[in-house]
Amino acid sequence: MRRVSYLLTALLVLALTFVPAVFAAEAPTVSQEVLEVYDKLAKDPKVTSAVKFLESDHEQRVQYVKDLVVIEAPSHKEEKRSRAYAALLKEAGLSDVTIDEKSWNCWGVLPGTKKGPVVFVDAHLDTVFDFGTVKGFTVDEKGTIYAPGIGDDTSALGGMLSVIRAFVKNGVKPVYDIVFVGTVGEEGLGDLKGMKAFLNENHPIGKNVIAVIDFEGGGPERITYLCTGSHRYFIDFIGPGGHSFGAFGTPSAIHAAGRAIAKVADVQVPGGPKTTFTVGMIEGGTSVNSIAADCRLQLDMRSNLMDNLLSLEKTIMSIWQLGADEENARWNKPGTITVKTTMVGDRPAGSQDENIKLIQAHWQSNVMFGYTPSLSAASSTNINWSVYKGYPSICVGAGGSSTGNHSPSETWNPAGAWKALQVGFMTICAVAGVDGVTQPLGGK
Ligand SMILES: [Zn+2]
Repeated sequence: MRRVSYLLTALLVLALTFVPAVFAAEAPTVSQEVLEVYDKLAKDPKVTSAVKFLESDHEQRVQYVKDLVVIEAPSHKEEKRSRAYAALLKEAGLSDVTIDEKSWNCWGVLPGTKKGPVVFVDAHLDTVFDFGTVKGFTVDEKGTIYAPGIGDDTSALGGMLSVIRAFVKNGVKPVYDIVFVGTVGEEGLGDLKGMKAFLNENHPIGKNVIAVIDFEGGGPERITYLCTGSHRYFIDFIGPGGHSFGAFGTPSAIHAAGRAIAKVADVQVPGGPKTTFTVGMIEGGTSVNSIAADCRLQLDMRSNLMDNLLSLEKTIMSIWQLGADEENARWNKPGTITVKTTMVGDRPAGSQDENIKLIQAHWQSNVMFGYTPSLSAASSTNINWSVYKGYPSICVGAGGSSTGNHSPSETWNPAGAWKALQVGFMTICAVAGVDGVTQPLGGK
């Protein structure tokens, strides 16, 4: 065994319960303007036939999900699924279907009648599972489908195709262009690669986006609009190593890391919105009878407030070298152990006013279909990036119920999943506007 220890996860988890969390607002105030838009949409024959269509398209949507889940797509390795999804976007009736061969985002456009502003709708292509994990899927007598990645986020990829079909097959023409995107890199060390590649001032479509609707698994009633930021690092302690007996007196990479971790464990987090840290993994060393030549720590820091995250980061990142210095001084061998830090995750924190029109719209869509909506506490999703960049954004469910997300026993039960698509469809209509029926509400 080369590695002395894996996954000493319990080493440093701190329960920082004394810090108050940022709580979501109770509800947005839905304006008269928004209510009037919904009144018109509810009466429009094309919109109502599209709503009905979503129910009748349910089996097709489930088939899409089954077809896509077996095309594995670990973060940073989404090419194959991206190509397959792009073909489905085209088949569903979108124009200008494009695959970005740098990021492997894929997208297509549902053209509006007015050029300029664009509504962005996405679900993420990637999963947390490496190649070889998905061996197909099984379905039980209750219709529950078993496959890693089925709920997060393949169910939403299938749902998005059904929403596109609802527009196209029922002749619902938006006022603003709508771009439907299969995004890459949402999970873990994917680090929001897809959102970063698309939603920025240099992207020909991304620069015109006025609202972001991000589909995840689950129901439509919980509206995520606040974002927990995270910064993640690999910390490497590096030294010469040596025989535990013969080279005794040589500074140890593991001992240096231990000295540093002890200091980090005592760090006080800033007051205010919840701010956390943990060394989640530690690995290194050569054998039980060797002085360790290497030790890698994986550090995760989170906050609902960007300033807190940055100040915590400043504190913690100044500590690692102290551990190396102390270990070198202990043996009077200055400079023997060195430290290298590598940032591997950068998800900015962010918050938005709960009264932006995008949130009002999705709230009202829920009310329209008999759901009781709620504003969720901050979490980490694709919209971390878009909120940070100032795009009005929500993350909502595309329907069905799933269990065991991010585990090999992940399931998705599609019963009634079309209802969430009706809610999402109506939000897209309200924000983008429907030609001859409503003016776009826009996002802000
Ligand atoms: Zn997801």
